[in-house]
Amino acid sequence: MTAMRLIVAGAAGRMGRALVRAISENDGVALAGAFERAGSDAIGRDAGELAGVGPLGVAVTDDPLPLVAAADGALDFTTPDATVALSELAAQGRIVHVIGTTGLAESHLQRLDAAARHAVIVRSGNMSLGVNLLAALVRQAASALGPDWDIEVLEMHHRAKVDAPSGTALLLGEAAAAGRGLSLEENSVRSRDGHTGPRPEGSIGFATLRGGTVVGDHTVIFAGAGERVELSHRAEDRMIFARGAVKAALWGFRRKPGHYSMADVLGLPS
Ligand code: NAP
Repeated sequence: MTAMRLIVAGAAGRMGRALVRAISENDGVALAGAFERAGSDAIGRDAGELAGVGPLGVAVTDDPLPLVAAADGALDFTTPDATVALSELAAQGRIVHVIGTTGLAESHLQRLDAAARHAVIVRSGNMSLGVNLLAALVRQAASALGPDWDIEVLEMHHRAKVDAPSGTALLLGEAAAAGRGLSLEENSVRSRDGHTGPRPEGSIGFATLRGGTVVGDHTVIFAGAGERVELSHRAEDRMIFARGAVKAALWGFRRKPGHYSMADVLGLPS
């Protein structure tokens, strides 16, 4: 069987380097290209050397177009604008586009839906098995515990993270809202400061911590009268997301175009 040809967007980033490592350790996939933002110091460098796995003979470029034309899939953990631009190329090339980028606005999501008419898009705010399992448990707990239990989502990430709450916190909030039969958008409290008044009934609260090198900690707290249930996940290594992304690409290979989630890949209830 020939290996699936994958390209990596943002190959010099924290996740980009982990993705190159994950591709190099999986015989079912091969690194077919790597690109970065125009003007990046990484242009011209070997993607394998940047990732710390030794030279792979793939130089980082700043032009995704010829790379997409010669690939079966793209792994993309970059920025919302870069992701939307790549999804349009993925649609033209009818390839798999695995998206881990977070902080996407409704306008970005609409453009991804349009691209998913021709590309196989697999997108998740968290590509790890553990968090996707946690989301299924949160949904179940939110439904079983009922509206008397207040739900709060707490997260902590490294000091360089630029969006908040994290994509994973929102994914967990969506799972809790689904378990309650609520819309997250209409019921979330994203921050609190000053005289906030009492907690709105039925709301789902978010709290964000930033610092150090934390890869990603998430806890969903169900607070009832006189007792609390806490469901947590701690990511210790970015490779869990990178291996999940490779798994998603292999799952999407030759699949019908559409906008899929990691729960689809893992066969978990979403
Ligand atoms: P990062 O280290 O800043 O990496 C992002 C990379 O993308 C940088 O190298 C950046 O280059 C590059 N980039 C920016 N614009 C680009 C463009 N137009 N074309 C090509 N490359 C471009 O960030 P990170 O920690 O790896 O995280 C990246 C994203 O993944 C974030 O949204 C994060 O929340 C998300 N994430 C998701 C998961 C998940 O499981 N879904 C897990 C971890 C992280 P410059 O630095 O030169 O701008």
